[in-house]
Amino acid sequence: MSVDSTLATPVITRPLNLGVDLVIHSLTKFMNGHGDALGGAVIGRKELISALRARSGVYLGATLSAQNAWLILRGLDTLYPRIRTASDNAARLAGWLEAHPAVTRVIYPGLPSHPQHALARAQMALPGGMIVFQTTDPQAMSHQLADRLQIIHYAFSLGHQRSICVLIPTEDIQTSTFRMQGPALARYRDWAGDGLFRLSVGLEDPEDLIEDLARALG
Ligand SMILES: *Cc1c(COP(=O)(O)O)cnc(C)c1O
Repeated sequence: MSVDSTLATPVITRPLNLGVDLVIHSLTKFMNGHGDALGGAVIGRKELISALRARSGVYLGATLSAQNAWLILRGLDTLYPRIRTASDNAARLAGWLEAHPAVTRVIYPGLPSHPQHALARAQMALPGGMIVFQTTDPQAMSHQLADRLQIIHYAFSLGHQRSICVLIPTEDIQTSTFRMQGPALARYRDWAGDGLFRLSVGLEDPEDLIEDLARALG
């Protein structure tokens, strides 16, 4: 079994200790943490990794450049305090968003309203830096946020030092590798409607982030 643990990082979850064979990380995100390098990692037992390495080197040919490796190693030195701060900030923001009249739902493992809050508490050392929230008319709200946010970046990607927010329209998922069919798509649509906002919380002062969101949400 393999797990993509990009959003958790090893600071929050240790999948190998939970019985997983292979852990995948996009190093581009929280691991590097500064939005300036691309990379990936697969972690697991030596015999699995050497087989993967031999085949992927030949068939995929993707290897990390020295510059990217150096930037990512530098970023990794501060992984622990960055994840702690992002997590603390996100916990503040999630509670604040849940009470905001323009927000119809907040999905964050640190909130008691999360359906798997108990599992998250048992399995995660910290609730993490990623928040999902929903508003009515997400398309109109996405334009409003893009126009008004000043501290939070309205942009794609996640896991940077700076907070990033973006609408993930349900339609767009259908053109990605996460596309769904039949009952899975119907269930997702029921739950997510036309789309969800993804907020990757960064290392800014949480008061500034709340002020920025308050101004932008209206
Ligand atoms: C971004 C992301 C990836 C892909 O990583 P890249 O480094 O952008 O290729 C894979 N899984 C998750 C969960 C991600 O957020």
